[in-house]
Amino acid sequence: MSYSERVIAQLAERYAGQPEFVQATSEVLGSIQPALDRHPEFEEAALLERLVEPERIIMFRVPWLDDAGHVQVNRGYRVEFNSAIGPYKGGLRFHPSVNLSILKFLGFEQIFKISLTGLPIGGGKGGADFDPKGKSDAEVMRFCQSFMTELFRHIGADTDVPAGDIGVGGREIGYLFGQYKRLANRYEGVLTGKGLTWGGSLARTEATGYGAVYFASDVLADKGESLDGKRVNITGAGNVATYAVQKAEQLGALVQTVSDSTGWVYDPAGIDVKLLREVKEVRRGRISEYAQEREGSVYHEGAGCWEVPCDVYMPCATQNELPLEGAKALVEAGCGLVVEGANMPTTLKATNLLLEKGVTFCPGKAANAGGVAVSALEMSQNSERLQWTFEEVDERLKGIMKSIHDNARDAADECGVPGNYVVGANVAGFLKVADAMMAQGIV
Ligand code: NDP
Repeated sequence: MSYSERVIAQLAERYAGQPEFVQATSEVLGSIQPALDRHPEFEEAALLERLVEPERIIMFRVPWLDDAGHVQVNRGYRVEFNSAIGPYKGGLRFHPSVNLSILKFLGFEQIFKISLTGLPIGGGKGGADFDPKGKSDAEVMRFCQSFMTELFRHIGADTDVPAGDIGVGGREIGYLFGQYKRLANRYEGVLTGKGLTWGGSLARTEATGYGAVYFASDVLADKGESLDGKRVNITGAGNVATYAVQKAEQLGALVQTVSDSTGWVYDPAGIDVKLLREVKEVRRGRISEYAQEREGSVYHEGAGCWEVPCDVYMPCATQNELPLEGAKALVEAGCGLVVEGANMPTTLKATNLLLEKGVTFCPGKAANAGGVAVSALEMSQNSERLQWTFEEVDERLKGIMKSIHDNARDAADECGVPGNYVVGANVAGFLKVADAMMAQGIV
């Protein structure tokens, strides 16, 4: 049994009740054995055994009063997973499904995603099983204040810097920041995703979608190609999808599709971003409204953007949205490149088929790291007490995506699997963290 297999088996036994965490650790550890073979000193230092245990987990009760005057109690968490290369950083998720398994899975993934960006930041994740949907602003504010009343003593600009995630947007970050400032008596960049008038970064909104398209361009550039004239199918119609459409079109691509949870739209003339934003961002409507208002476009119920032949496919909606049948359709139609804008949108079976059939597959861990990269740039701006221009942030984002791409590509080459960005991203992210952990002794 190899070193990684042994640690995976131990994890499966010890954390049988944490399926998401076991799945994520197995996926990463299962692909880095070539790197472990080159570094036998990692096993002697029990590096993997240390890497899979969070440095610290904070669990706490979050009591708050609802509008009817009743006391409600939720469970709050912060998983401070790894600080080998910098202060912990990762989003807060407020959703009824939140539990320790999900937060440990997300925190573990975050370590490698951030490591790949080349920025000096560690990995963490947190949240609560609180559902902001259907709550009044006053209830959300009281919940956030209670949550921060415990969390504030564990975080700080040089210790742990949370951000938003599902259920935690600008409103929640505002309430959390206000309470932190009051308790700590410090105005510091302790949270990212802040508003533009109080420490937020320009280009953060665009960062994930733009970054994924920059990644696609870097992959194509290596093959002597570009996005200019390519047919691109994008799924989703939210933050990541909208800005992926915008950037791909700026680079000369024909973007043919977008989707939401009810259906998808095919627009042979190319998606009109202005109308897309009007329908989804302003009216918060359904994607079918786009087709009603845009001549020549067609609306289809359900999933299925993969039915339209394309050169590049970018799933930017949600987890497990691209199943095996979709991957088969993409292969048959000659799609050569899949770039994940969302987190884990491709099922394992679909991923394996795409890799087998020679489709270049770029995992979200590498391709959607633009968002966290610009969050780290927000921290830099806060430390400097400056706000950079949109163009400056965008230029840095482009440079970061290029270095993520090159690192993943080179690591895949060194492992003898050229073009395999899954192995490349895992190995490149891992080696940087492993090197820092080795240098810092047994801690
Ligand atoms: P949004 O909530 O802004 O948008 C999600 C979009 O996906 C919505 O249009 C939604 O439709 C659609 N959608 C949801 N479920 C389905 C489904 N089953 N089939 C088709 N479409 C669906 O989220 P984001 O754009 O911010 O995030 C998208 C993904 O990217 C997530 O996986 C997220 O974790 C990941 N991500 C986001 C980052 C960011 O900076 N925003 C950073 C890194 C990763 P509807 O309008 O009907 O709800």
